[in-house]
Amino acid sequence: MAKRDFYEILGVDKSASQDEIKKAYRKVAIKYHPDKNPDDAEAEDKFKEAAEAYEILSNPEKRQRYDQFGHAGMNGGGFGGGMNMDDIFSQFGDIFGGGGSPFESFFGGGGGRRRQRRGSNLRIKLKLTLEEIAEGVEKKIKVNRLIKADGVTFKSCSTCHGSGQVRKAVNTMLGQMVSTSTCPTCNGSGQIIDHRPPGVDSSGLVPKEEVISVKIPGGVSDGIQLSMSGKGNEAPGGGPAGDLLIVIEEKEDDQLIREGNNVVYDLYVSFIDAALGTSVEVPTISGKARIKIDPGTQSGKILRLRGKGIKDLNGYGKGDQLIHVNVWTPKHLSSDEKAKLESMRDSSNFHPKPGKSEKSIFGKMREFFE
Ligand SMILES: [Zn+2]
Repeated sequence: MAKRDFYEILGVDKSASQDEIKKAYRKVAIKYHPDKNPDDAEAEDKFKEAAEAYEILSNPEKRQRYDQFGHAGMNGGGFGGGMNMDDIFSQFGDIFGGGGSPFESFFGGGGGRRRQRRGSNLRIKLKLTLEEIAEGVEKKIKVNRLIKADGVTFKSCSTCHGSGQVRKAVNTMLGQMVSTSTCPTCNGSGQIIDHRPPGVDSSGLVPKEEVISVKIPGGVSDGIQLSMSGKGNEAPGGGPAGDLLIVIEEKEDDQLIREGNNVVYDLYVSFIDAALGTSVEVPTISGKARIKIDPGTQSGKILRLRGKGIKDLNGYGKGDQLIHVNVWTPKHLSSDEKAKLESMRDSSNFHPKPGKSEKSIFGKMREFFE
């Protein structure tokens, strides 16, 4: 994605003063503040974008470099653009606070934003058969989540008065500097346990087994991680719950091999069936299917059952089932069988005469997978 112009992001002129830039940033940051736009990824991106623009434009040296070289001048400038929310609040959090700010009420007051502590994520493995993967499946899974125990109540932390942060004034040569850090009493949640029933620890959380219904889309593959927002552990102090992360494991099928969205089946036929033709039953993801083997079928032929494969994860149709035909050569023969075959050995029909239609197996495979 092309980066937007920093001045444009903040809506200021190239000649804007530092004060105008600060005011403009405050305006944009408040508009897209995560407290005001919960669970809005677009707002979060805008919020981060504005922070990045402010980071550069509020620093005269960086601003000059940006004016001269544009975004290209910012590479390696100690700011990779990957600013996270914590960085933003620790660097520019003060812009929201400050005595008498009209915005204070917005953010809970007390100076600065209360950073709620999220619950931890839960991760589980989920084994799926090829059949389940092919079409997608709804699964009920048991998880052991930490949830708020019955009877637990929280109260505002008295150390930080609910802000989750403590401010410390330090006298330096340049005057008094105020630094902010996470409150050690409540670990930043702003809340501490008020009423704690017996057997409950200071987090106020207890493990509870829950059955959660998960819809798995068709076409997932081994190692893919799905995430269910808010289905992880609850947070001490009543913050938002973490996520439930579901790691997909693919059970190996006895007969079918997955290759992308296709499934491959190795079929063995006798050379008599291959020579005379027959029909055979083959397993597919959705039960048995009967297929025809034409007379004169060569080993290495690939038959295709269209649409009998796996749904595409991104919705681009379905794969096929490919049947690799292998002609079985007998390993043991009785003397009677030997005699019968011997009598046909010199018949010209039994002499290999590969033509253009008999491509090598590798050529055929390439053709199918390209
Ligand atoms: Zn506290």
